[in-house]
Amino acid sequence: MVESSIQQTLVLVKPDGIYRGLIGNVITRFENAGLKIVGMRMRWIDKDFSKRHYSEHLEKTFYYTLEEYITAGPVLAMVLEGVEAVEVVRKIVGSTEPKSAMPGTIRGDFAHINLAHADKTKKAVCNIIHASANSKDAANEIMLWFDPMDLHTYKRAGEEWIR
Ligand code: ATP
Ligand code: MG
Repeated sequence: MVESSIQQTLVLVKPDGIYRGLIGNVITRFENAGLKIVGMRMRWIDKDFSKRHYSEHLEKTFYYTLEEYITAGPVLAMVLEGVEAVEVVRKIVGSTEPKSAMPGTIRGDFAHINLAHADKTKKAVCNIIHASANSKDAANEIMLWFDPMDLHTYKRAGEEWIR
């Protein structure tokens, strides 16, 4: 059997993206690329939930600034679907450090700070958006954030021209 190349991935518009009014701009980029939104919710997470979402970073020196950042306001969570969506979405998002993120990416267009500045000022790297790093993380994160009932199967108009 041929393995499907259609994947789902988790995206969060982080509190800085919400406070700065960037939701529409962020969503438009994914829709324009033909990625399908199959789930969406807004949620203000607490410290416990942050520890579950960012469990891989618990031992890092920046964890507490990260926790403060991600719990500082509501986030918009989305599940996006498309051909190799995990990698495609990371490409649209850009690299972790906004200074290094290419123009045209979400982080490159809407932020510019670097890691050294964040470390020096003991601030989080506010970089607008989270996206799952790989397909295993995507599956775990989608399970953490969404009830299967709230994920939907539907066909976009013109889908035959997209995938
Ligand atoms: P995300 O998981 O949010 O999509 P990422 O996968 O690009 O980001 P990670 O290494 O998983 O990067 O880091 C998680 C988040 O922690 C980053 O997006 C950033 O907000 C914050 N962060 C990463 N490194 C630092 C650092 N050195 N100092 C402060 N905050 C950091
Ligand atoms: Mg990550």
